[in-house]
This record gives sequence, C-alpha cells and structure tokens, in this order.
Amino acid sequence: MKLPPFDYACPTTLPEAIALLGSRDGDAKALAGGQSLMPMLAFRLAHPTLLVDLRKLADLRGIRISARGVALGAMVRWRDIEDDAQLERAHPLLKAAVAHIAHYQIRNRGTVGGSLAHADPAAEMPGIAITCEAEIAVVGKSGPRVIPAADFFQGALTTALAPDEIIVEVRLPPWPAGRRWGFQEFARRRGDFAMAAAAVFYDPDESGKARNAHVGAIGVADRPLRLPAVEEVLNGRPIDEATIAQAEAAASACVDPQDDIHASAAYRRALIGTMVERALKRAAA
Ligand SMILES: Cc1cc2nc3c(=O)[nH]c(=O)nc-3n(C[C@H](O)[C@H](O)[C@H](O)COP(=O)(O)OP(=O)(O)OC[C@H]3O[C@@H](n4cnc5c(N)ncnc54)[C@H](O)[C@@H]3O)c2cc1C
Repeated sequence: MKLPPFDYACPTTLPEAIALLGSRDGDAKALAGGQSLMPMLAFRLAHPTLLVDLRKLADLRGIRISARGVALGAMVRWRDIEDDAQLERAHPLLKAAVAHIAHYQIRNRGTVGGSLAHADPAAEMPGIAITCEAEIAVVGKSGPRVIPAADFFQGALTTALAPDEIIVEVRLPPWPAGRRWGFQEFARRRGDFAMAAAAVFYDPDESGKARNAHVGAIGVADRPLRLPAVEEVLNGRPIDEATIAQAEAAASACVDPQDDIHASAAYRRALIGTMVERALKRAAA
C-alpha cells in the first residue's frame, strides 16, 4: 500500500532533530528503523506531516558497559546487541530476549528506541525494561529527563513521551555475577510477536534461597507487567519444584488478559503460568 504524503528531514544533530520534532504541533514523528512506523503509515494508523530521520545521530548508536550497568543508545539495533559478545556476561537476559525478536532482516534495522517508543505490549524490549527497572533517558524542547520504565508505558502503543521528545538511551542496572535468570517465550512461529513471554531473575543467598526476585510478563496486558505477587512467592524460598508450582499458579492468577483474535483470555492466563514455570526451571538449573 502507498504511504500517505509527508515531508522528510534528516538532521545531523540532536538539537536540530528536537527542533524539527517540535515544529509541527505534534504532527512530526521520529523515524528510526522504520520497522513499525512504515507499516503504521501504510495502514493509515499514523499520519505525520513530517518524518525526522534519526539515522545520522551517531551519538545514539553506542552500547556502554560499565559498573553502572548497560546503557543502550536509542539507535542500537537488535543486530548490534546480538553481535556484542560482552553483553553475554553483562546482560544475558537482554541477549536472550532479543534473540526472539522478529527475523534477521528486521533485526538489522529495528532499534531499541523505536521499540520502546512504539510500546507494543507483546514486544520483548519494553518487557525487559520493566523487569529490570530500566531508566529511559529522553530529551525534548524543555530539556533532558529520565523516565523510570514503570512510568513510561501507559497502554498499548502509548507512552509518557511528549511529541517533541526523543529517546536518547535506555539504562539497565548492573547485572551481578551469580544472578540466576530465565527468559521463555511462546509465539505461533519463530520471530512472531509473543503470545506470552516471561522474564525472571533472582540473586540466590548463601543458602540458595531467592532474593531480589524480578518477574516480568509480556503479551498478557495492554503493556508489559511486573508480577509482584509472583516475586513474593519466590523471595526467601529455595527455587524448587514446590516454589515453582506456586509461582506458576500465582502468575496465572494475577494477570487479566483479554480475548483477542490469537487466543482466549483463559489460554493466555494459562500460558503465562507455563512461561514463568519454564523460566524459573531454566534459572534454577
Ligand atoms: C514482520 C515484523 C515482525 C516483528 N516482530 C517483532 C517481535 O517479535 N518483537 C518485537 O519486539 N518487535 C518486532 N517487530 C518490530 C521491530 O522490533 C522494530 O524494531 C520495533 O518495532 C522498532 O522499530 P524501529 O526501530 O524500526 O522504529 P520505527 O518504526 O522507526 O519507529 C517506531 C515508533 O517509535 C518512534 N521512535 C523511534 N525512535 C525514537 C526515538 N529515539 N525517540 C522517540 N521516538 C522514537 C517513531 O516515531 C515511531 O512512532 C517486528 C516488526 C515487523 C515488521
């Protein structure tokens, strides 16, 4: 399908990009990899009068690993994460989740910032941001601000971003050695969006009991969720069969998905329990 008409700009600096985005009373849109925006235009779900291409903003492309954690520039592509061997240790959960995103052609172009801004409830990166308590650094006409992931996602395809704001980077807290983790996803075909996925991690204490459990759920609500009821089951307990069974039941009980064309609510409720169970088994092993 042909795209609706729009003006196009390709700024070389961040201030220029922000000025352009703020120049159309909310009718301008950033263009990153185009992997979500182009279909939105083709289906007439978005009608921007100006596209501001971010591809020349080289400062948004870096992956920084330090004692403060992992910072991913907004224009980092899935492919960059896949190819970064250091992330294997610095953030294995991120690596595992990104491996489920789409097909390699899309992974060559799709970006971290685009995925966060698009806020698809079944997308992996927003789920990782929520599970890991990421911070999202943005800049707009009124200056920079940092938005906790928990405040960023406000509904399906809806975020806390102002129309003139650009995501600059997402910051994931440090990943201690010895952390146990698992990521499990079920999709109809490899590379499809998740029907449901679970991201879990915990830091075992000296006796092997779980501390600092974080459990995230993808694809079961209008936004990615943390599941505190499941984390409560895990904290202070050994991650054995009895705990995992209880966590699975708690995960199914604490979500409230809707029926849709892909699955019934009951199916998705059961599925997220199974994803949490499998992720915990992976983590414990
Ligand atoms: C067939 C297909 C299958 C896919 N499967 C998956 C999947 O399984 N899992 C998954 O997570 N994703 C999937 N995707 C989406 C893909 O991962 C994209 O990378 C992702 O949606 C972001 O797209 P993009 O970076 O190309 O951003 P664009 O499409 O360019 O932009 C998306 C939105 O974000 C805004 N935006 C982009 N960058 C910024 C920024 N820095 N600051 C502010 N706003 C910004 C744009 O204005 C637009 O509203 C799939 C896409 C396709 C086409």
